Amino acid sequence: MTAVPPPQGLALRISITDRCQLRCRYCLPAHGIPLCDRDQLLTYEEITALVACLQDEFGLCKVRITGGEPLVRPDIERLIGMLAELDVPDLALTTNGARLAPMAAVLKQAGLERVNISLDSLSPDVFHWLTRGGDLRATLAGVYAALTHDLRPVKLNTVVIRGINDAELPQLVAFAIRNACEIRLIELMPIGPGADFYPDGFMSSAAVRRSLSAHFVLNPARPSYGSSARLYQVTDADGRRGTVGFISSCSDPFCGGCNRLRVTADGRLIGCLARNGGISVREMLRTGDRAALCEAVRAVLGAKRRGRLFAQGMAMASIGG
Ligand code: SAM
Repeated sequence: MTAVPPPQGLALRISITDRCQLRCRYCLPAHGIPLCDRDQLLTYEEITALVACLQDEFGLCKVRITGGEPLVRPDIERLIGMLAELDVPDLALTTNGARLAPMAAVLKQAGLERVNISLDSLSPDVFHWLTRGGDLRATLAGVYAALTHDLRPVKLNTVVIRGINDAELPQLVAFAIRNACEIRLIELMPIGPGADFYPDGFMSSAAVRRSLSAHFVLNPARPSYGSSARLYQVTDADGRRGTVGFISSCSDPFCGGCNRLRVTADGRLIGCLARNGGISVREMLRTGDRAALCEAVRAVLGAKRRGRLFAQGMAMASIGG
């Protein structure tokens, strides 16, 4: 099946490693996942060639580097510099923030525009438990460094899990408002170990909005093209304002407007997060077969479907979140 790419371009998410120094309980098993051999990883040159091809042939509206944890791959600033030279639009990075503080300046200088930082709790103990060993102070230092070095808008990603962090969502939103960050409240997906938490832990965005409305006034904001988040302006009791995005992958999927294309660290194109599969383009990149690469992209886009029924056995860390 082939497809016409979306008119305003693809939102590309590139995983550059499947390794992560944290083990978030809803994302990775305690013992980790089978990792790619290093020679299976796309090199920075191959990633850059892929991005250049997609930009020329299909158009891009966003490029986001992710993982695993992208900041554990050595010399990431070299890749950022290579992509910035292509003049790709909206060059962003998703990170757990733990290594960001000492790297923010160099990433900004290399051409990174902005970051999304995962922050599921402001309680050191909950954070430590949920990440299986993470240090909240390091991630917060990453948030402040991103603000200092103008990697803005800084977006905070919070996966909402009933019984674990739902009671502290008002504090997380207040933290975001106070620090001029945008916060994304993400529905837990039954992907990888997330499936174990799902029966008791899932909380819909509508339920989260109801609970937040006891603390803030929420008004829907205008949607932006290709955004998976439903944006709301929030105002606290002192009149301070911020923006909260709700990502409702389960209760209100955004498949109809989905313009995303994911690339795994070993070079597999994935069109839909909810399904196993995808097409490996690593050999096409290694042999410079651009026609086969474009055909693979069209096939993956054509396999996108509406209506999300999760049948995904892989963890987000392997797919690229
Ligand atoms: N290491 C980086 C980080 O922590 O942001 C990037 C990779 S991580 C897989 C990307 C995003 O996927 C994170 O915001 C994480 O919370 C989210 N994620 C992982 N598993 C998930 C699940 N089962 N449901 C919802 N979001 C999930």
